[in-house]
Amino acid sequence: MRKEIVIYEKNEASLGFLRNFFKKRNDYSAIFIKDEKSLLEEINKKKAAALIVGSSVKTGKINFADTGCPVMAMVAGDITRGIRSIMERDIDIYLISPFHEEDFEHKLKIAIEKRGWIENICRDKKELETIVDLTYLVSSTLDPKEVLYFVVKKIAELIDVTRCSIISIPCEEKRHAYVISSFEDPKTTNIKLELKKYPEIRKALSSRSTVFIKDALKDPLLRKVRPVLAPLGIRSIVVIPVIFRNEVIGTLFLRTSRAGHTFTEREIRLCNAIANAATNAMYNAFIYEKLETEKTKLEKFAITDYLTGVYNIRYFYHRLEGEFSRAQRYKAPLSCIMFDIDYFKKVNDTYGHRVGDMVLREFAQFVKKHTRKSDVFARYGGEEFIMLLAQTSDKGAIAEAERLRYVIKEHRFKSLKNKKGITASIGVASYPHKKIKTQDDLITFADNALFAAKNSGRDQIRAWNQKSA
Ligand code: GH3
Ligand code: MG
Ligand code: MG
Repeated sequence: MRKEIVIYEKNEASLGFLRNFFKKRNDYSAIFIKDEKSLLEEINKKKAAALIVGSSVKTGKINFADTGCPVMAMVAGDITRGIRSIMERDIDIYLISPFHEEDFEHKLKIAIEKRGWIENICRDKKELETIVDLTYLVSSTLDPKEVLYFVVKKIAELIDVTRCSIISIPCEEKRHAYVISSFEDPKTTNIKLELKKYPEIRKALSSRSTVFIKDALKDPLLRKVRPVLAPLGIRSIVVIPVIFRNEVIGTLFLRTSRAGHTFTEREIRLCNAIANAATNAMYNAFIYEKLETEKTKLEKFAITDYLTGVYNIRYFYHRLEGEFSRAQRYKAPLSCIMFDIDYFKKVNDTYGHRVGDMVLREFAQFVKKHTRKSDVFARYGGEEFIMLLAQTSDKGAIAEAERLRYVIKEHRFKSLKNKKGITASIGVASYPHKKIKTQDDLITFADNALFAAKNSGRDQIRAWNQKSA
């Protein structure tokens, strides 16, 4: 089936490129929109596989993130302004002119695929949030961790035990379990256990019923781990699986080491009753932790460039805003370094786009590794990168740029078969300077300097000054 692509662009050069590209393709059908109103109508139909918008067209109040349709932008004309405009609209897949058909096709594919990815994370997050809200209501207002500790403490108070802990085994785990609460140490979180050393937990997990070891020194189940258990003086063990909606989400694990003493039936019944009562709280703790991980993943995803793994331009602008106003307020220096890989088109032409992508990732990770933690390093466009150096004057930034130019040139890229090197041209601009009045000026002037570096033969650095402006 043909994928429908909706296009809203007014820049003639870009339009020419798009018309030419789609004319040759019968796997896509392109619809060119003339005004904002028909764009809204098309979005509402929700059939399009992707939207393409020009960086300079106005899209009013459309919130692209809410449309559920992936968006890609074409940046032509005033590049700095174009990038700022697409960033404000939260579009993070874009192509900077001059356009190449291979890049365009590649990015369009990524945009279409990315949609499914984000939808999945958002759905998981929403479901988890609903469950957490619900279970919070059902159980208590206490912090789940507190509830779990309350459970182990209660059991230890009621029954004479040496060890008492709550262990969770995530569904996808086969080899490990995690102690999420333990009576011995109230601060316990996520201590990893190797399940092969705990046959009694494995048995409780697979049988889904209580495992009772009367005498750890005689029970055949523990034969292999006896040498470890014996010196600890452990004699009797009870493992109770906690069942929630037919899923084993964790096991309640009790041990006693008093010689000759074993759990009585009454004690096991009591543990079972407490375990059942604690089910909701345990489920809470379990889901709560999972939700926290998903949130962190989503936050990271929002500020990371999908291909190179370094910061994306949106995050860069966010930091630039803060750093620039700080620099103005405190009259502190602030520098910007712009990188453009030399002859990168040749890498694609020689090794193919896939290798090109790998080189870009390796380049980005390599530069990131060689920069200070306080510097913000982001992908600016295709093979262009940008760095913000707070509290750094032109002298410092030029020295840093020179050091990076050198290490880049010396680096042998794993992705390139004959281990050839790559060079980059670099432009530097620094605040304060009487011509730099806004944060955009800082970027534009770094870009101008980069242009001068390219024109002077590449693999070099130019700092912005009156001459290169
Ligand atoms: P120079 O900068 O030295 O002038 O030459 P260049 O060949 O690096 O520059 P040009 O602007 O002509 O081409 C940029 C190339 O970068 C062309 C394009 O195919 C490639 N490129 C841009 N984005 C990507 C990407 O995401 N993946 C890959 N593989 N290539 C990309
Ligand atoms: Mg370039
Ligand atoms: Mg280049």
